[in-house]
Amino acid sequence: MRDHTTGCARSEGYYKIDKKDKIKYLESSRLTSEEPPVDTQGMSIPAQVQVSTRAGSERRSEQRRLLSSFACDSDLLKFNQLKFRKKKIRFCKSNIHDWGLFAQEPIAADEMVIEYVGQNIRQVIADMREKRYEEEGIGSSYMFRVDHDTIIDATKCGNFARFINHSCNPNCYAKVITVESQKKIVIYSRQPINVNEEITYDYKFPIEDEKIPCLCGAENCRGTLN
Ligand SMILES: [Zn+2]
Repeated sequence: MRDHTTGCARSEGYYKIDKKDKIKYLESSRLTSEEPPVDTQGMSIPAQVQVSTRAGSERRSEQRRLLSSFACDSDLLKFNQLKFRKKKIRFCKSNIHDWGLFAQEPIAADEMVIEYVGQNIRQVIADMREKRYEEEGIGSSYMFRVDHDTIIDATKCGNFARFINHSCNPNCYAKVITVESQKKIVIYSRQPINVNEEITYDYKFPIEDEKIPCLCGAENCRGTLN
């Protein structure tokens, strides 16, 4: 063991422990050590490869089992898959408005495309922030209503999803799902989406007197967002 001059390992910050040193005292690291024992050197590598493929196929069949048994809870499963492998999308200049998100790989229908990430806030906070953003000259269009008292604010803390443009004839839709008792907004594909196609959904803004013009260009365009 390393000599801790300050008297405590935690006060000395991060330092790397050499694998050889770790093996001396860590039983688990001895078992998973990549360094094969000297006397079985020629055999241990293919054996390890076999083990890892088997683990992979076991994992896949496990996933299939889960898929069939959780068919009713497919949202949660898809959400976990989305976290595991994110859809390839890029951020680019859009013909609809300013910036937009574009598919970088074909997306099938009814797939989770991206989570709308932001801060979960209550109505009171949303009202306060809306006023503050207006004073700062920032629009409040990055707030997404989840239910009567929950809003997801992606204005200052969010991901690419906030750049997805509105369309009156969108290829995606937004859905609220509950994951571990947390409400989340996920953008799903309505139809297959081609590479380089812009990702859009219907913002479904409430009707207001002060209209925001819609520039989506769809044949069935409503003309305004609200
Ligand atoms: Zn439109």
